[in-house]
Amino acid sequence: MKFSLKILLWMIIVMALALGFSGFYLVNYVFETSLEREVGQALDESSILSFAFETAALSVPSKYNVLPDSTVEEIASNLETGGQNSRRLLRISDEERRILYVSDGFETDQTLLEQIGKTVKAHRVIHVGEKYYIHTGVTVSALGRILYLETLRDVSEVFSERSVGFSLYRRVTLIMLLVGTVIMHFISSLLTKPVRLLTRATKRMAAGDYSYRAKQISRDELGQLTRDFNRMAKALKRNIERLEEEIEAREEFMGAFAHELKTPLTAIIGYADMLRSHKLDAEKSFMSANYIYTEGKRLEAMSLRLLDIIVAGKNRPELTDFSAASIFGYLDGMFTGSRDMDFVFTYEEGTVRAEVNLIKTVLVNLIDNACKSSEPGSRIEVSGHALESGYRFAVQDYGIGIPREELRKITKAFYMVDKSRARSKNGAGLGLALCAEILKIHHSELVIESEKGKGSCFSFLLPWGGQGPEREAEKT
Ligand code: ADP
Repeated sequence: MKFSLKILLWMIIVMALALGFSGFYLVNYVFETSLEREVGQALDESSILSFAFETAALSVPSKYNVLPDSTVEEIASNLETGGQNSRRLLRISDEERRILYVSDGFETDQTLLEQIGKTVKAHRVIHVGEKYYIHTGVTVSALGRILYLETLRDVSEVFSERSVGFSLYRRVTLIMLLVGTVIMHFISSLLTKPVRLLTRATKRMAAGDYSYRAKQISRDELGQLTRDFNRMAKALKRNIERLEEEIEAREEFMGAFAHELKTPLTAIIGYADMLRSHKLDAEKSFMSANYIYTEGKRLEAMSLRLLDIIVAGKNRPELTDFSAASIFGYLDGMFTGSRDMDFVFTYEEGTVRAEVNLIKTVLVNLIDNACKSSEPGSRIEVSGHALESGYRFAVQDYGIGIPREELRKITKAFYMVDKSRARSKNGAGLGLALCAEILKIHHSELVIESEKGKGSCFSFLLPWGGQGPEREAEKT
């Protein structure tokens, strides 16, 4: 059953009960008060009649010691017709409960008569035929006799008013329930609209439409729920996109990895097969074994690089403060003189916070790439700049440069712009991927500026260590 229908149903039940009980209580209250008033009047009238009877008995001639039955009848008949509006209904009985006088239409049993002797005054409500009466009874003592005077007061109107009240109230309740149902249906569907909108959004999302958002139409708890739902949907979309990107990257990586393995392995297997199945001369044997050796070494280097990337991605760097001077000293010692290149090391003093060995790996890779991409004897500038935002390392070469459309891809594992050239220089397309991974764990990134045929500049920024920016004299 729909939520709005449930609310509607409960509202109708509560309203029906409230209207039913209040109506019943109200009509009954009016009835009880009217009946009480009628009972009071009937009892007053009964007392007045008894008094009138006793007064009339006083005027009986003194020759009678006891009030004769005929006189009782006479007085009773006078009392019966003495009413203002209509004839009174009364009954008079003697000490033995023998009826001495009864009005026409006074039809009831003697139950009350039995009680009068004990309580002096009694009353009850009785139902005779179609009518309701208040039956009163009172003791009258007149001229040596104890008589019982009973009266009947017609209160059918009070009862019929009650049934009219009930039927009227039933009709009013029914109309109010009908009108109320229409209004409450409107209210319940208005109140549950945010839930319907949320359900629609959930279904759209379940069907794969992660960009769909639920419309927020209120500022209450349901509005808050819609806002939170949309926020959750946004986070979910972001995560799914990230996961998709990761899966895509992994698939690309696996494809490239398989390809990188296949080429050297095919050659290794081919040469190995040749060695075992043919009798080769010494020169060819050496060539085959040498090919197997160099390709094997390349595979070994590649697997070590891969391991480095995986380890770098998983580990947190052990941050220490070190001076830019120490890094430049290390690089100078490593490269100057060892390669046929014109190295220029320029740096500003500064203390950097990072894992020193990892940063050395990055810089060695960048300088190595710069060497591989430049003609022998070319100028390669390695510089360090103290900036407000951190310490910037840069490696500039004037080599072959990188086409603009390749810039985005070169940090992906196994990506090489010119595969044959890269392989001929022992490249596997993993160096920049490793650099990017190392900088990522340092919350930094590689900035690559390059122009085809003119050269490239690879730079990155590291946070300040020690006391912050220190700008000292430039050293060369
Ligand atoms: P490799 O092991 O091939 O050097 P890298 O990941 O270090 O792998 O580099 C990926 C590719 O990016 C290289 O194959 C090369 O084509 C290109 N590249 C890297 N550095 C430079 C550079 N300084 N100048 C021009 N091309 C570069």
